Amino acid sequence: MSTRLTADAVVIGGGFYGACLALLLRRLYPRVLLAEKEDDLLQRASYINQARVHAGFHYPRNLVTAYRSLVNFPRFVADFRHAIMRDFTKVYAVARLNSKVNAHRFHEMFRRMKAPIKPAPAHLASLFNPELVERAFLVREYAFDASVLKGILRRRLEAEGVELLMRTRIHAVRSGAGDGLVLDGARGNERYEIHAKHVFNCTYSLINVLLHASGLPLLPLKHEITEMALVRPPEPLRNLGVTVMDGPFFSTMPFPALGLHSLSHVRYTPHKGWIDEVPPVDGHELLRAAPPASKALHMINDAARYLPVLGGVRQEGSLFEVKTVLLASEDSDSRPILFRRDYGGLKGFHVAMGGKIDNIYDLLETIADLNDDFGDRKRLHDIVAGLLGGGSGA
Ligand SMILES: Cc1cc2nc3c(=O)[nH]c(=O)nc-3n(C[C@H](O)[C@H](O)[C@H](O)COP(=O)(O)OP(=O)(O)OC[C@H]3O[C@@H](n4cnc5c(N)ncnc54)[C@H](O)[C@@H]3O)c2cc1C
Repeated sequence: MSTRLTADAVVIGGGFYGACLALLLRRLYPRVLLAEKEDDLLQRASYINQARVHAGFHYPRNLVTAYRSLVNFPRFVADFRHAIMRDFTKVYAVARLNSKVNAHRFHEMFRRMKAPIKPAPAHLASLFNPELVERAFLVREYAFDASVLKGILRRRLEAEGVELLMRTRIHAVRSGAGDGLVLDGARGNERYEIHAKHVFNCTYSLINVLLHASGLPLLPLKHEITEMALVRPPEPLRNLGVTVMDGPFFSTMPFPALGLHSLSHVRYTPHKGWIDEVPPVDGHELLRAAPPASKALHMINDAARYLPVLGGVRQEGSLFEVKTVLLASEDSDSRPILFRRDYGGLKGFHVAMGGKIDNIYDLLETIADLNDDFGDRKRLHDIVAGLLGGGSGA
């Protein structure tokens, strides 16, 4: 059985990026489809991540990324205010040994950017092992609740009339008659052939899998199977998030969707890494077929050397997901967006990816700058300016 659909625009991938892009496209075109292979929106990297609303402090080695985060922070917090958890204190500490930044440089960089940072008060600074931690700083950083984010986006997509095709996997994209594109996909045993003029590949860790199946060249992407441990925070950490910079250290902060703390560790969170080559690995399939053994105990034991209250904390579970970055971001520690239009010469087929959630604004503005197929630049920027706020943030 095969179903034939036509649309003006199709977004492949119902993560945070695909969902936001579908909202933009719906302002431009009457019929927009969003195809997602999972049962629901935001089930993959947009749910399984550290839930940090980046404000810049995580990127002391990359001024541009730090600055863009600082700029995007208030916008994201306002646009999705019902998904934002603010009622916890956030401390960034700088390690004495093996850190790529020292405390003075860390403080100066953010002070000059006029980011909210000050020395941590004594009762917080005293939580750290002074032999391993040079200084601790109080900053402003929030967490987002990915399930609330999903609810907000789903309601907006439905209200705007974007057609959601869940459990629908797109296998390949090809050119059709005239200047159109054809997507071949499936939902269970039902085959889909979707005809559209504009198609966006927003499949994050599976971008290259779709490109390869479509006979297109791969993009330089690096992937890691990652583990975030989930812990019930001991009393002193209940309303506290801590990140130790900038090297083989750790970060623990609220994971609002589950009411626990996530714990990630630069040394133990990555389990297996690879750079895509032909044929690219399907990271979701790899994770399903061979789930790695947890390294949470290593994370807890090492983190407790810096923050002794973590000693003996109980692991409540772990979340595993494929993390993808541009190969070029590896050394620079940057998180730029990726946007390739008319990819591989396939007119109307575009690839979009963001290295973190708040980069969405950089992506939307890049698209608004295109000023041709998608409409007048001024009108596009006006649409983008009000797109995600949706009035109530609910
Ligand atoms: C461990 C980890 C920690 C992170 N921490 C943070 C953080 O604290 N803060 C932050 O801002 N960012 C963080 N990130 C990055 C952030 O999660 C990503 O930048 C963001 O979620 C990417 O969104 P996306 O929509 O592109 O990807 P996804 O949410 O993965 O969406 C892609 C979707 O495409 C679907 N799909 C794939 N192939 C197909 C197909 N062929 N047909 C149909 N559907 C398909 C997938 O099922 C998936 O739902 C982290 C990431 C990881 C993995």
